[in-house]
Amino acid sequence: MFLQRTIRKKVEVKGIGLHTGQLVKLTFCPAPEGTGIYFVRRDLPGEPAISVQADLVQSTTGATTLGGSAFSVSVVEHCLSTLAAFRIDNLFIELNGPEIPFGDGSAKLFLDAFLEAGVAEQEQPRKYAYISQPIYYGTEDKHVYVTPYNGLRVTYTIEFPHPKIQRQTIDLDINEHSFCREVALARTFGFMRDIEAMKAQGLVCGGSLDNAVVLDNSEVLNPEGLRYPDEFVRHKVLDALGDLVTLGVPLMGHLVLYKAGHNLMNRFIRTVLDSPKCYRHIELGADLPEDLCGNRHL
Ligand SMILES: [Zn+2]
Repeated sequence: MFLQRTIRKKVEVKGIGLHTGQLVKLTFCPAPEGTGIYFVRRDLPGEPAISVQADLVQSTTGATTLGGSAFSVSVVEHCLSTLAAFRIDNLFIELNGPEIPFGDGSAKLFLDAFLEAGVAEQEQPRKYAYISQPIYYGTEDKHVYVTPYNGLRVTYTIEFPHPKIQRQTIDLDINEHSFCREVALARTFGFMRDIEAMKAQGLVCGGSLDNAVVLDNSEVLNPEGLRYPDEFVRHKVLDALGDLVTLGVPLMGHLVLYKAGHNLMNRFIRTVLDSPKCYRHIELGADLPEDLCGNRHL
């Protein structure tokens, strides 16, 4: 039986926000079963909370922002990706500012926090969205689709006309171990020409070579180089897994992405939610559906 999970104890992380450049304190707090994931703005009157769902994605420019008319929480994807990898279903994420600490641009900050807090199983079974028929969303030359698969598998391809990136593909079965080993430490990346334009608009004020891989027209500018030869596509997997949490339940399927970003992922997830005949909610327990028996990937 796969049961719902939360964390064993409160744990705090601090760091600057990518866009504001301001120090933010974030506290992960255990939550009762059936709660789901909530961000709580402790710095605002009434301490408003927002759940993680695709129709509450307010912006996908450069990062994923959840929000309504009164408040927002930005750059949620690396944090969400990590809690999904640890199969955490119920959590309050309290913060004292408008964006999540950016750490070193990877998921390391959150990985360390969850390892410190530990994971606690709860009583109720975990629900999955089990894909039974393919679902596709594409625009221009970019696309995302999902096909039936007994587990969560991600195949991601990117193409950038840059000598250090070009075409990169990765194919991974996702679980806590593969996430920690293959994905979690891959950093965000950006091109110097875009960063200068964004800074002129008041964005990425906290960005530096300490929290991103930065490229000029031909080289990686970080003196330490890359953490993996294909760090770029690995980071895109990290982002996609974070955005996938806005589906509301963990996905069972094979996700195939080509040149996708936050906006395409949000549109794809909305398409999944609008395609109820293509998936069903299941629990993985003693009554394991027949077509999942003998599953090697969970
Ligand atoms: Zn990212």
